[in-house]
Amino acid sequence: MADKRDYYEVLGVSRDADDAAIKKAYRQLAKKYHPDTNPGDKEAEAKFKEASEAYAVLSDAEKRRQYDQFGHSAFENGGAGGGGFDYSNMGDIFSDIFGGGDIFGDLFGGGSRRRNSNGPMRGADVRKSVRITFAESVKGTSKKIDIEFKDPCKKCNGTGAKPGTQPETCPKCGGKGQVVYTQQSFLGMVRNVQPCPDCNGTGKIIKEKCLDCHGSGYINTRKTIEVTIPAGIDNGQSVRIQGKGEPGVNGGPRGDLLVTVMISADPEFKRDGYNIMSDVVISYPTAVLGGEVKVKTVDGEVVYEVKPGTASGTVVRLRGKGMPTVRNNAVRGDHYITVIVDVPKRLTNEQKEALIAYDKALTGEEKHTRKKGFFK
Ligand SMILES: [Zn+2]
Ligand SMILES: [Zn+2]
Repeated sequence: MADKRDYYEVLGVSRDADDAAIKKAYRQLAKKYHPDTNPGDKEAEAKFKEASEAYAVLSDAEKRRQYDQFGHSAFENGGAGGGGFDYSNMGDIFSDIFGGGDIFGDLFGGGSRRRNSNGPMRGADVRKSVRITFAESVKGTSKKIDIEFKDPCKKCNGTGAKPGTQPETCPKCGGKGQVVYTQQSFLGMVRNVQPCPDCNGTGKIIKEKCLDCHGSGYINTRKTIEVTIPAGIDNGQSVRIQGKGEPGVNGGPRGDLLVTVMISADPEFKRDGYNIMSDVVISYPTAVLGGEVKVKTVDGEVVYEVKPGTASGTVVRLRGKGMPTVRNNAVRGDHYITVIVDVPKRLTNEQKEALIAYDKALTGEEKHTRKKGFFK
């Protein structure tokens, strides 16, 4: 470890740099040397690792104080095991730096996001999906869905232990709820923190289980929840219902229920953003001479005046006839209709004669009647 560079030097900041300056310096280096942007580049990888390590230390007030006092030797024994470095909290650091994303979790061998299992933790979100029609997505709707709602068990107050007994501290993890594994990776020895398998991360072992909840601490009840789906919602978007997810731990708040909305395809209308697309079929004479045509919109039928000489494939905009926007239903997209000129496949003899006469008037030639077998 003797040739290890000074952490301040690595980040290119002064020894009295504040947190913001350290964060800014690391963000720049991490972007520059991230393995995703430098695939296969060992030098970039090493630089990235070096900067990440420096940041992990200097962004943590206690670690920084130790480093300032003892230099690299502060982390050589203990804590990091075998001279390796503890990257277990890098996922949190990285999401803090880059705002979400689990890149670091993958990169550092799946560091668990779970911090101290004894503190209050928000319950997990629960996902459900619901299918609605296109028309319902235009007007908005409400749907009833059934969910399994977990409530803390009243008999044992959510401890899972038989009333009169207490859960015991888990001997494997000493009540921390986490166990640390050391793992070899491209970054050297990496400490991987995982929930304790003996107590499932709770830190407690229940000897005598509560009979009501079988030791889980929760009672499942089937609940019917009414979900209000706003007009303008798009396929795959979710509605969040606060506090209907899993219960929190140690006084943490409940998670949310996320209902993903699936919209069935409509035979008439397609959606593109807040615009609606559809086709309208007109006859050849209407295309040439112009005329009125009825167009189906989500507001009902409207009459559209086709201009004389309209080509097949012409796109017409019906302003404000599209989807309402979720935030403000009064603001709507447009409806684009594609005019399709119908080419008939079956004609009566009378219609054929008329077309031939038209063709003759157009070109001065009479060609169709010469073809053998044209008329049946
Ligand atoms: Zn345990
Ligand atoms: Zn119970």
